[in-house]
Amino acid sequence: MKVESAEFVKSARASGDFVRDGRPEIAFVGRSNVGKSSLMNRLLGRKGLARVSSTPGRTRLVNYFLVNRRFWFVDLPGYGYAKAGKDERREWAALADSYFRAGGAEDNRTRPLVVMLVDGKIGATPLDAQAYEYLASLGVALVVVATKVDRIPRGKRAAMERGVRETLGLEGEAPLIPVSAHSGDGMQELWSAVARHLEQSAQ
Ligand code: GDP
Repeated sequence: MKVESAEFVKSARASGDFVRDGRPEIAFVGRSNVGKSSLMNRLLGRKGLARVSSTPGRTRLVNYFLVNRRFWFVDLPGYGYAKAGKDERREWAALADSYFRAGGAEDNRTRPLVVMLVDGKIGATPLDAQAYEYLASLGVALVVVATKVDRIPRGKRAAMERGVRETLGLEGEAPLIPVSAHSGDGMQELWSAVARHLEQSAQ
């Protein structure tokens, strides 16, 4: 996909602020530090763009980037950072829930494609498994990506993928794309999944 334009448009903190303009949405979800900003920047070919999400005060917001004036990249807050307590976890769940479940007759919105990121070097954690179970229960389109694969020797990547599948309970046919924001591995495959979603949304 050729990215002609990509711009940060707004941050939302509650359901009333979410964008409802009928454009398709690609939502990025993952643990803090999983490589989400780096991946979004790499996909968009814009170095500092998604960093806005990790500036203080923006980390708990839903950030919207308009791509090619045609669809949204939606950056959801990272979950499970080291010091997160129960309250913060609840806060994340409440925001995610209001983002994913918002809807209704008046809601001009198509179902998002969710790109869930798992750290390929660390592997899937129990928190990732919980997040995956939650996302799968919503019935949204899901693509799991394993990040930072440049840090894994090629000979060990298949074992990493098996481990991630097992921890998440990912079925054989469910997509798992190894990616690296540094080397560019997996970018084409991920863009293809996005393009397929955009086509389906247009029908
Ligand atoms: P976020 O908190 O999920 O937005 O994560 P960041 O994109 O800020 O990345 C967290 C850390 O992982 C940073 O130190 C990045 O440099 C590093 N990182 C991100 N993507 C990659 C990657 O593809 N390969 C490697 N080796 N490191 C990465």
